[in-house]
Amino acid sequence: MQKTIKSVRGMHDYLPEELQLWNYIENIIKEILNSYCYLEIRLPIVEKTEIFQRAIGNITDIIEKEMYSFQDRKGNNITLRPEGTVGCVRAIIQNNLAHKNNKFWYFGPMFRYERPQKGRYRQFYQFGAEVFGLDYSEIDLEIMILTSRIWKVLGIDKDIKLEINSIGSQNDRIKYKKELIFFLKQYESLLDDDSKRRLYTNPLRILDSKNEDIKKILKKAPLLYNYLDKKSKNYFKTLCTMLNDCGIQYYHNKFLIRGLDYYNSTVFEWRSNQLGAQDAICAGGRYNFFLDNKGIKKISGIGFAIGMERLILLAQNSNIFFPDQRGIDIYIIFIGDSNKRYAIALSEEIHDVYPKLKVFTDFSNCTLAKKITHAVNFPSHIAILIGDDEVKRGLFLVKDLKYNKQYYIFKNEILIKINSFF
Ligand code: ATP
Ligand code: MG
Repeated sequence: MQKTIKSVRGMHDYLPEELQLWNYIENIIKEILNSYCYLEIRLPIVEKTEIFQRAIGNITDIIEKEMYSFQDRKGNNITLRPEGTVGCVRAIIQNNLAHKNNKFWYFGPMFRYERPQKGRYRQFYQFGAEVFGLDYSEIDLEIMILTSRIWKVLGIDKDIKLEINSIGSQNDRIKYKKELIFFLKQYESLLDDDSKRRLYTNPLRILDSKNEDIKKILKKAPLLYNYLDKKSKNYFKTLCTMLNDCGIQYYHNKFLIRGLDYYNSTVFEWRSNQLGAQDAICAGGRYNFFLDNKGIKKISGIGFAIGMERLILLAQNSNIFFPDQRGIDIYIIFIGDSNKRYAIALSEEIHDVYPKLKVFTDFSNCTLAKKITHAVNFPSHIAILIGDDEVKRGLFLVKDLKYNKQYYIFKNEILIKINSFF
């Protein structure tokens, strides 16, 4: 039996039709990030496996079971990036950029071996941003204002809500961890396998569980927020006051933590109730990295990543308006092989003078009637016909398909006259 040719499970083709919306949204996000003076950075899709292990933490979903890791021909351990922050930090340190600029953004595919479902894939795209070294709550605010602006400009702000929390400092969490383990031990037999395993290694991750039974148990659990020291609490309170002042609505979700080890202080998520279980569209927080060749360099920052597939799902759900880019502006039809060169020359002249117009030259051997049907169906705004008769008379026949009119235009006037159709 012939096997069907299919992409790898959880990895998808992004087809021209849906990419209309992707490009529209990508451009808006890029424009907003650029307008806040974040600079683009492009990073390799693979990094050395050890930098993810060191930065993300060994008892995390990503490191335990989601990484695409392999050895190259020399036996080096390499991983397809599961997220962008680690590579970005690596690049900043390696290229000594931290003192030149603080704010960066990146866009590209990430890879995680997860169970594919709606809003969760094995290859997915993230728009991410990182701000390094500016450890004050105004920067946390800026990140939230900026993301909020993205939703507003896209017209999905009513479908997306901000949740914030503080997970304090490492010291705060040491105290809390003990209490949490003490509490959860009473329910150990009721925990699922993942939570049981994490109980003594990374109990905070249990707070992030999506299992409804665990969520019920957690309702009575001690809250990390109550274990924060004065400094962490004040930092968080200042942020809340500034969010209020800026009119940004938020919910203080005291169970919100982030899945990766490197976070501390502010954490946040933008969630939608339109997407079912995969409801987080954008997630981020403050972090401290200890990373360089000797593993001792400290870099602090705050960042976020937007899951593009989920954002697209929400934009489609909310039926946002965006301009359709698919049409053709000028559809050139030549009749008879000897007139092909006039068509090619005309197309090039139009590209020279009107570089933004979309010009399609029909080289097929269909009949004239079929070519015109093609032009109409695409749809095209105008069609230019070049036949023996027109060439002899020094004219082109221009059909305005939008308004169903036609004109004979002198060859030497066509470039000027085209302007009047657009
Ligand atoms: P989740 O709890 O949904 O697994 P996460 O905490 O693993 O999310 P992050 O690592 O913070 O997610 O990534 C930021 C964003 O990237 C998420 O909020 C989500 O929108 C998106 N994202 C994460 N994993 C996937 C995936 N497998 N497929 C599609 N989008 C994803
Ligand atoms: Mg995850």
